[in-house]
Amino acid sequence: MSETRVLDASEGGFATTRFEALLNWAKKYSLFQYPFVTACCGMEFMSMAGPRFDMARFGAEAPRFSPRQADLLWVVGTISQRQAPALKRIYEQMADPKWTLAFGTCASCGGFYDNYTTLAGIDKVVPCDVYVPGCPPRPEAVLDGLLLLQDKIQRGDRTPAVVKPRTDPVPRARELVSAERLRLGPRATDPRK
Ligand code: SF4
Repeated sequence: MSETRVLDASEGGFATTRFEALLNWAKKYSLFQYPFVTACCGMEFMSMAGPRFDMARFGAEAPRFSPRQADLLWVVGTISQRQAPALKRIYEQMADPKWTLAFGTCASCGGFYDNYTTLAGIDKVVPCDVYVPGCPPRPEAVLDGLLLLQDKIQRGDRTPAVVKPRTDPVPRARELVSAERLRLGPRATDPRK
């Protein structure tokens, strides 16, 4: 369906759709989450579930602590090598169709833990649909990730995707550097002045 039009109550007519589109619409608004929360990103996850950011608006708030009753695996925080087999087992026990979201930099790529005890991203052991960068990510970024996942579910797209910043950070960084140069004057290039 390329266009959605809401019919006025006084208008007659009928709507058509494909069964697959209807099914995907139902799937994307009835996600049952399994929160696999291991570290500090968990605080942001709690904030997502609270009234301020209110994940319930998107039909994804119901947690299930049995993987057999869940279809969205939220991996929130650092995953150590010792936890990796448990994560994989939980993913395998979840009902099909199922999706995975990497919450934060640690879950996405291991973050700053460049060592032998930390898994360098959950995609080393389970497939990942959406990566949300940030240490920790802001709840708005995670909501963007959830909306991105819902869009992918609607389109039947299983290609991994990354949440992008809403604005390009490079021009802002250039502005800050220029402002700092102006503030420092000649000292910006030669600290001896
Ligand atoms: S991404 Fe940052 S906030 Fe999140 S678990 Fe890793 S270190 Fe903690």
